[in-house]
Amino acid sequence: MKLTVIGCSGSFPGPESPASCYLLEHDGFSLLLDLGNGAIGSLAKYLPTDDVDAVALSHLHLDHCADLGPLYVTRRYHPGGFTGRIPVIGPPGLDARIKNLYAAQGEGPEPLEAVFDFIEFGPVAVDVGPFTIEAHPVVHPVPAFALRVTAGGRTLIYSGDTAPCERLVTASRGADLALFEASYLERHDNPPGVHMTGADAAKAATEAGVGRLVLTHLVPWNSTDEVVADAAEYFAGDLMFAHSGLTLTV
Ligand SMILES: [Zn+2]
Ligand SMILES: [Zn+2]
Repeated sequence: MKLTVIGCSGSFPGPESPASCYLLEHDGFSLLLDLGNGAIGSLAKYLPTDDVDAVALSHLHLDHCADLGPLYVTRRYHPGGFTGRIPVIGPPGLDARIKNLYAAQGEGPEPLEAVFDFIEFGPVAVDVGPFTIEAHPVVHPVPAFALRVTAGGRTLIYSGDTAPCERLVTASRGADLALFEASYLERHDNPPGVHMTGADAAKAATEAGVGRLVLTHLVPWNSTDEVVADAAEYFAGDLMFAHSGLTLTV
């Protein structure tokens, strides 16, 4: 499968990148992991919004879901016509959250269900097109999931937002690529239960035996060099950091 980083800015859009959004493509099917604020504009550089086939949301913080509203607008009101419903898969309460988000803009009479087929994560994996998505609960101030995505015999594990936790390690075993958040710096006094440092991400990937690690959710006020240096101490494999436009074959 092909991974394109659309947005990797942690917690809010930065000068170089929108908030979280990753495009996965396989066999002509296009799946978005998260659709944070600002992402839909950059997405259009790589994929017409009409060609999005499914969206999976790790959790419902704005920097991971805010651009569902704009996606609704582009799909529903494009002058070329309505382009059909797509599945949007995410945590319980997904439909109410997105409706509330969009209603604040003054929603018209049409329901979002005209465009989105809301599906909540459960214990059973969800199949969309050629992709199988497993959602593994992780540790964050709101319900949040690491997403293990498999297609064509290859597996990507995306941490979403999480504090260090054993469940992330368990969910990552056997994956070909780990896309892990690294929001914090080691030298700061970080609040517990929210995010990881580069070192935390590296330790989790190492413990899970994943050979490729891409650090993401990079917060604009941090030095990316420092995040990577924190990680490098604990990871002997292929280590890189995300930037908008980065493309990799998983
Ligand atoms: Zn976030
Ligand atoms: Zn979050």
